[in-house]
Amino acid sequence: MQDKMQKIISLCKRRGFVFVSSEIYGGFSAIYDLGPLGVELANNIKRVWWKSMVQEREDIVGLDSCIFMHPKTWEASGHVTGFSDPLAECKECHTRLRADHLLEEVGIRADEKMSEEEIAEIFKKNKEKIKCPNCQEKGNFTDVKKFNLLVKSNLGNFTDDWQKEPSYLRGETCQGIYLNFKNVLSSSRMKIPFGVAQIGKAFRNEITARQFIFRTREFEQMEMQYFCSPQEEMQEYEKLRKFRWQWYIDLGITQENLKWHQHENLVFYAKEAYDIEYNFPFGFSEIEGIHARGDYDLTQHSKFSKQDLSYVDHRTNEIYIPHIIEASSGVGRIMLAFLCDAYSEEGDRIVLKLKPALASYKVAVFPLLANKPELVAKAREVFEMLKTDFTCAWDDRGNIGKRYYSQDEIGTPFCITVDFQTLQDQTVTIRDRDTTQQERIKISELKSILEKK
Ligand code: ATP
Repeated sequence: MQDKMQKIISLCKRRGFVFVSSEIYGGFSAIYDLGPLGVELANNIKRVWWKSMVQEREDIVGLDSCIFMHPKTWEASGHVTGFSDPLAECKECHTRLRADHLLEEVGIRADEKMSEEEIAEIFKKNKEKIKCPNCQEKGNFTDVKKFNLLVKSNLGNFTDDWQKEPSYLRGETCQGIYLNFKNVLSSSRMKIPFGVAQIGKAFRNEITARQFIFRTREFEQMEMQYFCSPQEEMQEYEKLRKFRWQWYIDLGITQENLKWHQHENLVFYAKEAYDIEYNFPFGFSEIEGIHARGDYDLTQHSKFSKQDLSYVDHRTNEIYIPHIIEASSGVGRIMLAFLCDAYSEEGDRIVLKLKPALASYKVAVFPLLANKPELVAKAREVFEMLKTDFTCAWDDRGNIGKRYYSQDEIGTPFCITVDFQTLQDQTVTIRDRDTTQQERIKISELKSILEKK
């Protein structure tokens, strides 16, 4: 299965989905850039998420808060003291590793939510069984320490010891939603229950950077926080779980490759927490967290900001701190899940069976022969006509078979070929990526047929 992962990583590089950041300087660990096809795919993922979350829902509005927030935000949220992963260092090669991941590899379930003492104890007991994944040395590790994941900066601090009072790059986007709760309420007609959705960058000093774009230090999150009354929290939570599960199914993810993972160790304030996991080539792993968070977030921000964040519910005249349920996912992780799920090999043909809504290019246009100016001119005409409505690729290199294969590999659902018959009767062939069947259709009907498909 790791072999499949290698194939996907190589496809991503070869065809311009994902590049290692700063590659000419030897790369920068756990940071990746999106190439021409990757940015289209990521934009499509974000677009369909936004459409289902904001555009089609009257009870959810959007927000775009900044990466930097008042440093108190992260004290209130608990991140300054509690946002950490357990770190152990190999004494032989000095590689820093996640202790919970090392334990998991020898079949012992540990959790980043356990206390430092708890996890250090379990690690100590089992350390002889554990091998360093880098140098293969067995059992030679330092004691486990918790390592804070917040990335610090000197923004707005012009002193040399800025580390004492740093500002943080946000570790999650949702804090910006909590801070704007009152603003959204007073500037819109939203009434509880309602949600605020946001897409944006987040940063975490991840200890181990593993599995390509699955875990990166800079990544993009898509988060929706839904504010509700204490009584309706769990009912809304169940609705949200169903809604988010269906989103993946509608976008063509194989159902057997998805599963729910219920958190056993809940943080003290949480009512319930489930993750949606995808069956990556390296095993089932989280792609989205759906959590019922109680009134913790707004209570904390109320306390630290000394602002009243309570809500008067006109349905019942009750006054309460709103409870929050959230759906939180990462664009890169979801993109990797879609790529893994869509990747297939049929003989010598590699096909990315992405739904058209996600595919980087919706359509490719080819002149049958590149050295016949009349075919090229006609094909350009078709390309120009389509490009305002669809992301289109143009290809006139090599033979048609190779061009089809090249588009299959990047998931383009439809290829249109302009041939000699086109010049006679204004028809083109349209070839379907998944069936490889070709149909002849009139140029005048192309747009409406593509829209339907
Ligand atoms: P993990 O246990 O894998 O570190 P998490 O439980 O810390 O993840 P959350 O804080 O719940 O993750 O973040 C919500 C979502 O954001 C995750 O489901 C994932 O899709 C995405 N995400 C979190 N951390 C990263 C990361 N380092 N790189 C890419 N995506 C991430």
